[in-house]
Amino acid sequence: MQDSYHRTIRYLRLSVTELCNYRCQYCMTEDGVPKRAHGDMLSIEELAEIGAAAVRCGVTKIRLTGGEPLVRRGILTLIERLRALDGLRELTMTTNGSLLENVAIDLKKAGVDRLNVSLDTLSPSRFRELSRRGELADVLRGLEAANAAGFPHTKLNTVLLGGVNDGEIADFVALTKDNDYSVRFIELMPMGVCASFPKERFLSADAVLAAVPELTPLGNDGVAELYRMPGYRGTVGLIRPMSRCFCADCDRIRITADGMLKPCLHAAAELPLRGLHGVDLENAIRKGASIKPARHHLSSGSSDTARSMNEIGG
Ligand code: SAM
Ligand code: SF4
Repeated sequence: MQDSYHRTIRYLRLSVTELCNYRCQYCMTEDGVPKRAHGDMLSIEELAEIGAAAVRCGVTKIRLTGGEPLVRRGILTLIERLRALDGLRELTMTTNGSLLENVAIDLKKAGVDRLNVSLDTLSPSRFRELSRRGELADVLRGLEAANAAGFPHTKLNTVLLGGVNDGEIADFVALTKDNDYSVRFIELMPMGVCASFPKERFLSADAVLAAVPELTPLGNDGVAELYRMPGYRGTVGLIRPMSRCFCADCDRIRITADGMLKPCLHAAAELPLRGLHGVDLENAIRKGASIKPARHHLSSGSSDTARSMNEIGG
């Protein structure tokens, strides 16, 4: 499946819910998302059908995201259905890790290949403040459970927040010493609630290289610049949507939990997929991929989408 700029689209981010048990300050308001009728959201059956159609269109990698995918009822059934698809090479999930401890083994058995676990601070009190309701210890136990379940190369997503967690960069890098983790520092994107954050919160990933100058470059891995500390097991990735636009290499489309295809995270364009089946569904997915814009316009201030990250699926 190609877009009009000759990019081959292989990667689907499938949001399985808008809901979340956390209220991260940069992602949601304290009140969370307005509750919508159950029927407004894609069922597990619809999610599986859309995933299958995307794979027939040439998608080889699906990431399950949200909201928090582990609060979605029926998630294991969805994983099993997607895993059974011929042509799907990789099935991954992004999770806040809070509920991972009790389901890591089930996720592995059902067919998740790899996990991204979001972790923005290693300080228990800062964690409580940032997530507004989470406990760091839950996530750390979740990570241990993921290791014990045999998940390889778990990625830790750390959003850089100037004046909040930039003093912890070296501590995050230290996590890669004995663990096969890839700690990925992500630049904060101005969308949803964080679009009005003060300027100092938006930190360039250069701050990571300044804090730990011993990091040695390993080249690129998808949209991440990869580094390693000499002698360490794991790696460090920098994801720079703000300081270095990687749109030219973008191979993703996204589908929201209410069934809209988003050709680009930051564009307003959306195509409805609900109610479509078979060839009609495939054609709509191909059409969505074909209208992917050349690039985002974050440098002009904020995202063009009215949706927040938990609605689109990060
Ligand atoms: N709830 C899951 C989690 O937190 O991992 C999955 C959904 S969350 C929206 C996916 C990722 O998006 C998280 O790693 C989160 O930190 C990141 N994210 C949310 N808002 C962001 C923003 N404005 N800029 C950059 N990353 C953001
Ligand atoms: Fe929930 Fe993830 Fe958003 Fe935090 S970043 S509120 S965990 S969806």
